[in-house]
Amino acid sequence: MKITSFDEYKQVYQQSVEQPEEFWAGIAENFLWQKKWDNVLDWNFKEPKIKWFQGAKLNITENCLDRHLDTIGDKPAIIWEPNDPQEDHRILTYRQLHDKVCQFANVLKNNGAKKGDRICIYMPMIPELAIAVLACARIGAIHSVVFGGFSAQSIADRINDAECNIVITADGGFRGNKAIPLKSVIDDALVQCRSVKKVIVLTRSRTPVSMIKGRDVWWEDEVKKVETQGNPDCPAEVMDAEDMLFILYTSGSTGKPKGVVHTTGGYMVYTGYTFANVFQYNKGEVYFCTADIGWITGHSYIVYGPLSQGATTLMFEGVPTYPDAGRFWDIVDKFKVNILYTAPTAIRSLMSFGEEPLKGKDLSSLTKLGSVGEPINEEAWHWYDEKIGHGKCPIADTWWQTENGGLMISPICNVTPTKPGYATLPLPGVQPVLVDENGKVIEGNGVSGNLCIKFPWPGMLRTTYGDHERCRTTYFATYENMYFTGDGCLRDEDGYYRITGRVDDVLNVSGHRIGTAEVENAINMHSSVVESAVVGYPHDIKGQGVYAFVVCPNQHGDSELARKDITMTVARIIGAIAKPDKIQFVTGLPKTRSGKIMRRILRKIAEGETSNLGDTSTLLDPAVVEEIKAGAL
Ligand code: ATP
Ligand code: MG
Repeated sequence: MKITSFDEYKQVYQQSVEQPEEFWAGIAENFLWQKKWDNVLDWNFKEPKIKWFQGAKLNITENCLDRHLDTIGDKPAIIWEPNDPQEDHRILTYRQLHDKVCQFANVLKNNGAKKGDRICIYMPMIPELAIAVLACARIGAIHSVVFGGFSAQSIADRINDAECNIVITADGGFRGNKAIPLKSVIDDALVQCRSVKKVIVLTRSRTPVSMIKGRDVWWEDEVKKVETQGNPDCPAEVMDAEDMLFILYTSGSTGKPKGVVHTTGGYMVYTGYTFANVFQYNKGEVYFCTADIGWITGHSYIVYGPLSQGATTLMFEGVPTYPDAGRFWDIVDKFKVNILYTAPTAIRSLMSFGEEPLKGKDLSSLTKLGSVGEPINEEAWHWYDEKIGHGKCPIADTWWQTENGGLMISPICNVTPTKPGYATLPLPGVQPVLVDENGKVIEGNGVSGNLCIKFPWPGMLRTTYGDHERCRTTYFATYENMYFTGDGCLRDEDGYYRITGRVDDVLNVSGHRIGTAEVENAINMHSSVVESAVVGYPHDIKGQGVYAFVVCPNQHGDSELARKDITMTVARIIGAIAKPDKIQFVTGLPKTRSGKIMRRILRKIAEGETSNLGDTSTLLDPAVVEEIKAGAL
């Protein structure tokens, strides 16, 4: 499956476009199927209908667990680092993970779970979260993981949308210096959820909880029951390739969350293939993805992708700044991490602490780096390259979306020459196109437009749960016969792709189209700026004006001068056209729980429309919005 040179990449890419079905069938041969497919692909983007590997039978957990037992059964599958550095870490070998998954799958069955049920998982980042996910897949139940920071209302909305009958949670969890009373949040949510019949509660924080008779059971008690039943194994449910594997609600930086649906066969093939290639995973390497399993990155690149490839995947319960801003580096040092996959928001935040937290940390084990979630600004890219990678680690700036299932446009480590700020080239099997407002495909290089994908790939979403029409209108109706990503993109003279932000985030200033990410990139280059967010607002003369929210803690008290400095920086880097009309200094930006800036809210504030900010339930810290509203210019 692994491509090993740039020439080979070009050749394989060409083949994947000319003969996509042969290409994907070849990739799929690397997996374990109980029965092979009758048909590789059946599709139209009109309805849309997308079916990969029809007729095939499999269980993804046999690919992630059983098939490794003979060869690497005693090698670590999961390394877990707790929030509190004083607490012991845990290591689960492939055999131990297999046994625990089977055991918990039997717990689920004992509690009435069966194939096709939807099960909500609301847990901290501990190995039992991965076990719960895999146990659902083992018995063919559809998991819907909700990030352990969401509010009762957000959980209730998600449980009701999918009509889940079981919830798996813990008494509480730890993140940094915060304790999160998970079970109590679930209790509040369940007041509104009539479909839930059972709640399985793991002990983690020993927070007092109210266990409701007949509904709530302890994870540990249920495991004991399975042990006394003396039936440790759990045969894997036979799944059709197109059976649903999971629902995942998108983070909601652009509106009401959608239940993105992924199916079994295509998702397995796509995550395994992209993981093996992009990170060029070699046997025995320690791989650390800092995402939470509550997000797609965690699903695809902590659990399914790495495990299907027999990798050692490191799970971290805490946050990058606890107990101090050196925590990631301590973890890299402690476990001799080889591959680190994190997000620009984390990099920018850690950068702002300077080099002190890096002192005395041995990062020499690192050989490959990754970034995901947002465009990575050049300053952050260079810092990551120099201070973390010591100039010797390729950076995979991976562009993709929840709806994509896996990485789409990304360098392949040590294969694709990288370029700061660029996601570079599509992976073989991915066919991006740029289109203009009228849906006309823009050919050639040195052009920008709206990013679409014109041919299916196995990991793509099949529907949005319970509302296929929403899937059609959101992704397939804007441009005929194409999947529309919602992102703006530049293809430079070398044919390299650079994501310029969401299409709604492209400004039209005096007739010039400027990506918000470009302006932010320039602002962030100013030495005292930690982070910024740029939005447009109606401007009498220019059509749209540039409004910048800037986090700039060390401006030496002269904010007028700092404004001028920033404006000059932007003028020098992009041009006078992109100069911010307004710069508001803020102490923080409104972010989703996955760390993305919610520009929707900033746009409203910039437009002076503060009365109705829409759904803010997915915000990490709603207080920051009040501060920004109060200081609006
Ligand atoms: P919602 O769709 O609910 O608004 P979201 O789009 O933030 O949420 P995700 O699916 O996690 O949820 O994020 C995908 C988006 O993140 C992409 O469409 C793109 O805008 C951005 N993104 C992800 N990776 C990159 C990257 N490497 N470079 C630039 N942008 C990226
Ligand atoms: Mg999105």
